[in-house]
Amino acid sequence: MTRDVLRSWLGEAAAVVSPVRCAGCGAADIGVCAACRAAVLPSVRGVQVGGLTVVVALEYGGVVARLLGAVKERGRTDALGVLAGAMGVALRAGVVGCAGVGGVGGVAGVATSVVLVAVPSARAAVRRRGFRPVDELVRRSGSGRPARRGLVLVRDVADQAGLGVEERRANLEGALRASARLAGRRVLIVDDVVTTGATIGEARRALEAVGGEVAGAVCLAYTRRRDGRESTQVTPGRPAGN
Ligand SMILES: [Zn+2]
Repeated sequence: MTRDVLRSWLGEAAAVVSPVRCAGCGAADIGVCAACRAAVLPSVRGVQVGGLTVVVALEYGGVVARLLGAVKERGRTDALGVLAGAMGVALRAGVVGCAGVGGVGGVAGVATSVVLVAVPSARAAVRRRGFRPVDELVRRSGSGRPARRGLVLVRDVADQAGLGVEERRANLEGALRASARLAGRRVLIVDDVVTTGATIGEARRALEAVGGEVAGAVCLAYTRRRDGRESTQVTPGRPAGN
């Protein structure tokens, strides 16, 4: 029996003896209630991070933050499906958006050649949860393309929560390494939440260090900054080939 199967079996067994509560609001006897599902309303926009456009679908906070927290802290995979729909909206817009920038062969040509590379979770977190939330969000998004594991963490990093912009950058500097197989490939970086952009920036550095071409990034959600960082509406346009 694999660890994943065992975990899934234990989760189902636990659900029989302990009542399920909504991962977003705690309402009884339901995984994610109708009100919380309705609160996950994707609105695609672009956030500028260090000269890169990050396409996002949701604002981080409230129900969105509680659902994502339930996934990451309590392994609530039932909340993943609700968030994955929004991830799919952002991914489609991101793929079309990067095709619009000097795309040779038209939108469809670039859309098929762009590679999604997920930002990796810390190894301890993967062991604890038994799955990688970003990979799962992409897999369940209906976008029809998997996230590649083209980045690895080469050292431990501190929890980013509570760190300022400069501290986050220093915390992550040199922490990621990209696969040499991404040399010459056009890449979209994929992550769950963008806050200061430190993670995206480090992923970009690592990818460019092996000769990858970073076309942009896609995140499920963005944290509205107190400095009033600009975000712009993104027009998804015609989806390419799907
Ligand atoms: Zn709810």
